[in-house]
Amino acid sequence: MKDDCIFCKIANHVIESDYVYEDDLVAAFRDMNPLAPTHVLVMPKEHYETIVDGVPAQTLAAMVHAVEEVAKSEGVAETGFRVTTNTGADAGQVVQHLHLHVLGGKRLTDDLA
Ligand code: 5GP
Ligand code: ZN
Repeated sequence: MKDDCIFCKIANHVIESDYVYEDDLVAAFRDMNPLAPTHVLVMPKEHYETIVDGVPAQTLAAMVHAVEEVAKSEGVAETGFRVTTNTGADAGQVVQHLHLHVLGGKRLTDDLA
């Protein structure tokens, strides 16, 4: 856990949030500024900056499993949804703790949401 990282704090319950899924490796909670009816952030409990920060395969698999669980519980597994991860400056990454955006519940446009 990185002491100055907000997502480390939320994923490890130092700060509470609106969780929708959790297991040993991963936490998922609602984005505080939702861009779609379903906008959930899926992330590892361990601190990695991006998807290309040497994340163990088991953790990546747990994140994909969490996406499936979230999509089912949010009711977007059938209607469709989008998974994105902003990586670095050109993608506009704001929080430097790896997270997947799960977006759905409306017809998504060609930008992020
Ligand atoms: P990104 O780094 O993927 O570009 O953007 C970070 C995302 O995290 C944004 O969609 C923002 O609304 C969300 N976010 C930032 N800080 C918090 C927070 O403290 N709580 C929650 N629930 N979402 C946050
Ligand atoms: Zn972190």
